Order: sequence, then C-alpha cells, then structure tokens
Amino acid sequence: MGMGNAPIVILKEGTKRDKGKDAQFNNISAARTISDAVRSSLGPRGMDKMLVDSMGDVIITNDGVTILKEIDVQHPAAKMLVEVAKTQDTEVGDGTTTSVILAGELLKKSLDMVDSNVHPTVIASGYRLANAKAQQILEDIAEPVSIDNDALLMDIAGTAMNSKQINNSKEFFSRLVVDAVKTVAKEENGKYTVDLNNIQTVKKTGASMDETELVKGLIIDKEPVHSAMPKVIKDAKIALIDAPFEIKKTEIDAKIEINDPTQLNAFLEEEENMLRKMVENVKKTGANVVFCQKGIDDLAQHFLAKEGIYAARRVKKSDMEKLAASTGGNIINKIAELEAEDLGTAGLIEVKKVQGNDMTFVTNLKAAKSVSLLIRGGTGHVLDEIERSLIDAWSVVRVAIEDGKIVTGGGSTAVEIAMQLRDYSASVGGREQIAIDAFASAMESIPTTLAENAGLDPIDVLIEMRKQHKAGKNKFAGLNPFTGKVEDMFGLKVVEPYRIGKQAINSATDAAVMILRIDDVIAARGMPMPAGPPGGTPMPGVAEE
Ligand code: ADP
Ligand code: MG
Repeated sequence: MGMGNAPIVILKEGTKRDKGKDAQFNNISAARTISDAVRSSLGPRGMDKMLVDSMGDVIITNDGVTILKEIDVQHPAAKMLVEVAKTQDTEVGDGTTTSVILAGELLKKSLDMVDSNVHPTVIASGYRLANAKAQQILEDIAEPVSIDNDALLMDIAGTAMNSKQINNSKEFFSRLVVDAVKTVAKEENGKYTVDLNNIQTVKKTGASMDETELVKGLIIDKEPVHSAMPKVIKDAKIALIDAPFEIKKTEIDAKIEINDPTQLNAFLEEEENMLRKMVENVKKTGANVVFCQKGIDDLAQHFLAKEGIYAARRVKKSDMEKLAASTGGNIINKIAELEAEDLGTAGLIEVKKVQGNDMTFVTNLKAAKSVSLLIRGGTGHVLDEIERSLIDAWSVVRVAIEDGKIVTGGGSTAVEIAMQLRDYSASVGGREQIAIDAFASAMESIPTTLAENAGLDPIDVLIEMRKQHKAGKNKFAGLNPFTGKVEDMFGLKVVEPYRIGKQAINSATDAAVMILRIDDVIAARGMPMPAGPPGGTPMPGVAEE
C-alpha cells in the first residue's frame, strides 16, 4: 500500500515542464517565428525592416543579423536561431538571413516527420549525413577566384550589396571595397589572410554617398589643439602619449597659502618650467607630431606650437592603438620616458576640413597596411546602413580572397545541392533517406523565398530551376528576381564566396539538430516558459512592444 499512482515530486514548486512532442512542437514553432521574421528581407527584392527600440531609436535595415540582434527574443529555442545568425556574421559577415531561413526550414520539415513518427534521433542523424554530403557537393561545384581578378572580386562585393539601399552605386562602392581589402591583405606561402581590423570607417553626414572616399591610412577625428600648429607634416615622427601634458594636481584638495607675490611667481614659474621640460623632452626625440590620449595644458600647447609640433589631445584609446599598429610607434605612459625609438612614422599627415570639421589624415604608412573609408551620406540613418552594407561587402571579398573559392547565387547552388542530395539519399536508404530528402527540400527554400519576395510563383520557379539543373545542364541556373526568369548566374555576375554556403548549411544543421533532440524543457520558476502553439499567442517567444 502507499505507492499507488501518486506522482513523486522531485522538482521545486513553480518549475514548469514541457515534455515529448509538446516540447518539440513549442521549440520548433518559436524557432520558426524567428526565421519567418527575416524571410521577407531575403534577396535583392527583399523588403527592409524598421526597428524601433525601447528608447524610440529607429533602425532601417535589411540585414538579417541586425534585425535579430535588435528584437528582444525570449524563447530559448528562438535564441538558438539568433545565435546561428550571429555565428554567420562573425565567421563570414554575410548570409545571415540565409542561415536562419535554412535552420527554420529544417525544423519545419522535421516537425512533419515527427508527426509521422520518425524518431528525432533518426532525423538528426539523417540531417548530419545530409550536411556532410552537402559540404562535399558545395566544394565540388565551387569555382576558383584569384586575388588578381578585380572584376570578379567586384562582382562578389556587388552581390552582397544587391539587397541593400546602396545597390544603385554598386560599381563605385565595389571598387572602394575591393581596393580596401586588397590593400590590407597579407600573403604567406601563397595563402592570403585579411585582418578586417585594419579597415576602419569614419562617418560624416552632409555630402552625398558617392563622395565616400577611400583613404590609404588612418583618419583621426581630431584637429591640432593650437591654431599656430602645422597642418601639413611630411615625414612625420609621431609620439603616442597616454599621459597628460599637465601638472598633476595634488591628490587631496590641498589649499596652497600664498602670502607674498614672489611666492606666487615662483609657483607659476615652477609650473611653467615643468611644462617646458615636458615639451623639450618630446622635441629632443625628434618628434614633430604628438597624439595625446589625455589633456594638454594651454601653456604646453603654446610651447608645442612654438616648436612647430602638431599636437592633438584626448585621442580615443582605439585610435591610439590603431596609430601604434599602423605607424610602428609605442604608446608611452610617462613623457619623461619617451625615446626616439618609440616614435612612429608616416609619410604624410594632413589636416583637412570635412563638413566644417577639421580631421587629421595619417597616410603614406610604411609600418602596416591600414585603410579608412570616409563614409558620406545625407543622414545618420543612411550612414549607418551604408556602413553595414560595406561591412557585408568587404567581409565577402575577404573570405573569397582567403578561400579562393566562389559559388553562384540566386538559389542556383542550393538547387544543385538539393538535386545531388536526392541522388545520394537513395543510396543511403532506410528512414534516414526521408530526412535527407527533407534536407534537400529545405535547401530549396532559398530559391523559393527569393521568388516569393519578388512576387513570383515559387513552385513555377523551382520547377524551371530543377529542369535546368537536371542532367548537369547548368549548375549556375538561378533566379533573376528582376526578370522572373531562370538564368545563368555567372553571366549575371551573381557570385558569392563559398564560405557563405559552407557556414550557413553547417550552423543551420547544428541548430536544427540541437533543437530537435530536446524533448524536455524544464524551466526554473520565474523564467519565461516557452509559449504554447500558434493560435494561442500570436508570436511565441518574441517579446512585443
Ligand atoms: P543574407 O542576409 O542571407 O545575405 P540577402 O538579403 O543579402 O540575405 O540576400 C542574399 C540572397 O540574395 C542570396 O541567395 C543571393 O544569391 C541572392 N541575390 C543577391 N543578388 C541577386 C541577384 N542579382 N539575382 C539573384 N539573386 C541574388
Ligand atoms: Mg547578404
């Protein structure tokens, strides 16, 4: 007696729990909500989203990862999809919408299979097999690209810009982007690496976007502290100082009592001498330029100007670090310790007016390759979206140069992979075959979403694409969303780095498999519990403003 059917409670009161198919269903619908949120922004005819944060600030963007970073996602499974976008963004810099759509579609397909009693572990292993095969197919269909092929690299940059507002000035921006990336690319044993930290942007409103300028060097948003300082310095010897050109005020608020005027004079003289000494110290190292991270006392400014030294104060820490890296100088914490060998060099430093502001251009650098894009545009929102688009563009050029491999877009690669995956699935057989076929269909969501966003019939488009891919007729056949026709994407110059697809397929698979294998969600008290199936709350897991 006693045991009966009474449940044994092992969880704390208030803990919520979702099990089995309920858990899977809830997780998957939350994740799909995320992919549905970005679907309509895919491709050159995708729509922009206006995001308004709790402070009322507005962002207008088409960038998948920006959209997902800004919306406040609560559901744990939905968060995993946001992670997919973030990973894509850090690893490749483009293809974020694609990766999230793929993950959402893999999950949607898995739900149908779970419903027909295919076990999630079988689906997971089928998806893993499909991913491995897809990676191999992708490698096989990739075409080579060399760093010297400017035209092709510009096409790659252009494809990334197609879906952005700046696509009207695509030629112009592609040129800038390719020049920028090639300038900072480093070669080692025939392999290239590009450190994107060596590309910086400076944004200034007031001019039109095609006045955006590539500067081979650094732009520091500073002017000399004193009007008598030089505005053009050739063969600059640069002191980088992280210490104030000021006399340290005593730590404690001390009152200095001065009773007689000679005492005051002595005191001021002492201060003047100390500042003069600091400037002499800099002068004797041969420096003709000073970038100071801290303040510069008026008197010190005067002495520096008299010595013909350019000096800027309160330079940002990040700018100081870039200056150190690009000029080969060392940042010094004590002015007295500055030595000639700590100085950086630049062939030319120039102060130029940009939109009424003086800015300092540090160019002709020998120590390191670094470039700056001075982005111009009408408003702050425009500048931000141009910057996001340029970051996408130079990211794809970077990975194309690093990998030396590209594929074609417009859904062409996805359809080719889907077709070859179906051949492969037949050879695997069993229940996993169903999952591999489902994976193939999920790949086709790329061309169908591109078609939907162009107002075309996705089924018609897909049928035509499959037809053209069949029997190896044209692996580059993809959708031209502007004509609605299936065309050769190489001919249309719609090319993308191989790494976009590689990473997107990989992380979409990982996320889908991970979410799929969860059959029990145990949430501590106070944690938001995954919302119920659709029909209940309108957007499960996505906080609404
Ligand atoms: P993501 O965030 O995934 O990069 P995008 O909105 O940038 O999303 O859209 C990328 C998709 O648009 C890719 O599938 C790419 O091949 C496709 N695409 C871009 N330009 C064209 C074009 N001119 N014709 C056809 N497809 C294009
Ligand atoms: Mg893109």
